[in-house]
Amino acid sequence: MKLKFASVIILLAILASCNQKASDLQQAENTINATDMEKHVIALASDEFLGRQPFTEGEVKTVNYLRSVFENLGLEGANNGSYFQEVPMVEITFGSPEKLELKSPNGIVELELIKDYVFSTSHVKEQINIENSELVFAGYGIVAPEFNRNDYEGLDCKGKTVLVLVNDPGLMTQDPMIFNGNAMTYYGRWTYKYEEAARQGATGVLVIHDTKGAGYPWEVITNTADNKLFVQSEDGNLSNCELNGWITDEATSRLFEQCGLNFKELSEKALSSEFIPVSLNTMISLTMNNKLRYASSKNVLAMLKGTDLADECIVYTAHWDHFGVGPIMNGDSIYNGAADNGIPLASMLETAKAFTNLKQKPRRSVIFLAITAEETGLLGSKYYAEHPVMPVQKTVANLNYELFLPIGRMKDVTITGFGQSELDGYVEEAAKEQDRYIMADPFPENGMYYRSDHFSFAKMGVPSLFVKGWSDHREKGKEFATLKVNDYWATTYHKPSDEYDTATADLAGNVEDAKLFFKIGIKLAMENYYPKWSEGSEFKAIREKSMK
Ligand SMILES: [Zn+2]
Repeated sequence: MKLKFASVIILLAILASCNQKASDLQQAENTINATDMEKHVIALASDEFLGRQPFTEGEVKTVNYLRSVFENLGLEGANNGSYFQEVPMVEITFGSPEKLELKSPNGIVELELIKDYVFSTSHVKEQINIENSELVFAGYGIVAPEFNRNDYEGLDCKGKTVLVLVNDPGLMTQDPMIFNGNAMTYYGRWTYKYEEAARQGATGVLVIHDTKGAGYPWEVITNTADNKLFVQSEDGNLSNCELNGWITDEATSRLFEQCGLNFKELSEKALSSEFIPVSLNTMISLTMNNKLRYASSKNVLAMLKGTDLADECIVYTAHWDHFGVGPIMNGDSIYNGAADNGIPLASMLETAKAFTNLKQKPRRSVIFLAITAEETGLLGSKYYAEHPVMPVQKTVANLNYELFLPIGRMKDVTITGFGQSELDGYVEEAAKEQDRYIMADPFPENGMYYRSDHFSFAKMGVPSLFVKGWSDHREKGKEFATLKVNDYWATTYHKPSDEYDTATADLAGNVEDAKLFFKIGIKLAMENYYPKWSEGSEFKAIREKSMK
């Protein structure tokens, strides 16, 4: 009898503490609200912030604003007490040769800058000199052990310049049995082609453009080919290939023909994992005279220290940068970037506020990282992922806020990179609590998973999430959501019209997303489990290696 009574008391005590925990979480979550969120959006997307461009007055205003929000929330600076992390960068303006003469076995092939090719380099050097580098066609230029594929097998790349096809064989064949079929893998991205060629020790790598494979016409490449911003690494980026670039499929066909090869036939052969690289028996020589400009920008980061697992962390990210003041469109020159990425940033600040309102602190530490230079190539996140304030093997997960539209509450939670990791299950659980359902990004062929800051974490092996309500409006349904999203891409994305209008904006859905991020983060921060990449994910092996 006594024992029973004691059990009941214990049970009641457990229930009470559970309830207390639940109500603690709930009241913390309830502090996320549209009024506070809107205050942040209005400030961040105001003309006063000048489009939040790195290296400008707009940067100073933005990073100071973010620091003061973090300070007022009582969060500590995450970089040894500082709220800032300097990100050293260098802008390289490429002085590429106007014309190229390639000596093939059957005579000279002439190529023209912009019309046929564009070159770049990440080597922080004023002059690049390449002499007699042998051209080799390396198919898709992919080394993917999980797909039993090595396009470089048997090829010694030293001193050579490889020509590689864009995209991956799955997307090109639409065969779901090859790679991930219509869903692009990272092996399809041009950035991967550059990285793999460098790992192989090649001198140069040229990606062969075709509109279908790249997903955009040649002009998109040539329009932005004059210069590029890079993170300054200790080795001056010398571990990368000396020469990077693109060549049109038309110029490639012409070149192959002169070499007695059939480009179309060889491209088809390259679909097979049995493909063997083919030398063009042709040399490339060139000089680039480049201009260098050094500049530094800031990531802004704050932390809520955990309790018994304080040396492990969850990292929330949202990029703060946008395009600043640029070409005038419809009488406006300020690229305010409200949806990209003012609202997501404000949402992260609201999630951060909820964490500071918890009575019971999370077991793991939680980092809030506002990132610079996303728009210029994920540079701030790349820098952070390579210089994290806690080691990557102690970084449990990354949750990234990117491109939120203020169009009201959504029934869906769209997961870009669906199936990549066990984090999908965390999203599903949190979505259910909100009476929402999860779905995969309907356009996986666009490779969006590889195009925002969470990807810099994925590349270091940290499971990372890119989610939001995007596809199914609670009252107005799917068609309305699709209409709004398509309208955004067509009229507003990366344009001065990406502004915040208090009269028409509805932040209720963004508030719900900020709460969703809170729920997911809480679960991760309260347990001691490390979510894993899925079987077949291109990031699984990287994680397993770093956790050893
Ligand atoms: Zn963005």
